[in-house]
Amino acid sequence: MFKHQMSKNTEFVKFDKVDKSYDGKVLVVKDLNLNISEGEFITMLGPSGSGKTTCLMMLAGFETPTNGEIYLDSNPISNIPPHKRGIGMVFQNYALFPHMTVYENLAFPLRVRKVQKDEIDKKVDKALSMVSLSGFESRMPAQLSGGQQQRVAVARALVFDPAVVLMDEPLGALDKNLRESMQYEIKHIHENIGVTVVYVTHDQGEALTMSNRIAVFNDGKVQQLSSPDKLYEEPVNSFVAEFIGENNTFGGEVTDISKDVCKVKLQNGEILANPISVNSKGDKTTVSIRPERALINPKDKMDNNQTGKIEEVIYHGDHTRVRLDLLGNKEFILKVPNSSNELDLKLGNEIKVGWNSQDARALDPK
Ligand code: ADP
Ligand code: MG
Repeated sequence: MFKHQMSKNTEFVKFDKVDKSYDGKVLVVKDLNLNISEGEFITMLGPSGSGKTTCLMMLAGFETPTNGEIYLDSNPISNIPPHKRGIGMVFQNYALFPHMTVYENLAFPLRVRKVQKDEIDKKVDKALSMVSLSGFESRMPAQLSGGQQQRVAVARALVFDPAVVLMDEPLGALDKNLRESMQYEIKHIHENIGVTVVYVTHDQGEALTMSNRIAVFNDGKVQQLSSPDKLYEEPVNSFVAEFIGENNTFGGEVTDISKDVCKVKLQNGEILANPISVNSKGDKTTVSIRPERALINPKDKMDNNQTGKIEEVIYHGDHTRVRLDLLGNKEFILKVPNSSNELDLKLGNEIKVGWNSQDARALDPK
């Protein structure tokens, strides 16, 4: 009951200097060092080909690291076969056994582990109730909707009380509404049973919704490992700023710098920014500003005050998206809440826009 108050192992899963090459030449995972806490929901997020599935396959035991070691609860696992690692799995295309009932699908991993019949019945019952499918024992997979099938797959991954559950794009085949409701469902199951989950997706919204922490992958390397809010508010480089959410960018060169602020000269002007990845005068940079951090007709004093010309206005229900031509950037996006309808957002109008230097992050040049 007080599980979360006990001292928990913050290195429950540990990737220690892990490299992986399939062909002996190219490293598709490079020097991965990643500690996952017991009970954590961690997501590996990144574009296709960035090495996410390879990491899961090494943890599951279907691939071997080229260098380095993976530890589970402080034990190196290289020499432990997949079925003895105590790891459950759900994959997008890891279909249910089509010729077996729901009950038989769930009983299968227990039979493999030589669990007694009455114990199997209890565990199948419990796993099905966890995914709200009690009473579906005798259905065949073909008699279930896509979402129900995926819930059975989740139940099957949990039924033998694994230490860790791996999920690789498990919702990829579902339509948008179902995908979103399944995100909450899986998140709630995790909160209820506290199992350690390593989740893989290329969908940033999904990662932000579900995770305690997110490891952003690109090109076989972790670019940033943070909580969802930190990842969005404080991206450490241009790749992360671009990959997570929207951002307005300006390329330029640092002309003055102190600890908290730097001056960046653009082709068409100058802005004050937050020096994140720049150190000295002359450094090239891409400055990143989230659309919601730039305000139209700001009432309070702001560090940066500019004028932009309205190029496009798109109504989005809860907000309006306004595209401006500002400081030479014709793709400068603003998001205006639809409660502020006193603004005159006519095409071609000039409007005042302001933002603070701390919200303009001077990152590595793109
Ligand atoms: P992701 O899951 O992020 O899309 P993967 O781990 O599947 O990325 O792939 C990373 C890289 O490794 C890609 O360049 C991919 O082509 C390559 N790769 C993946 N699996 C294999 C394999 N079994 N044999 C050879 N190359 C592979
Ligand atoms: Mg993959």
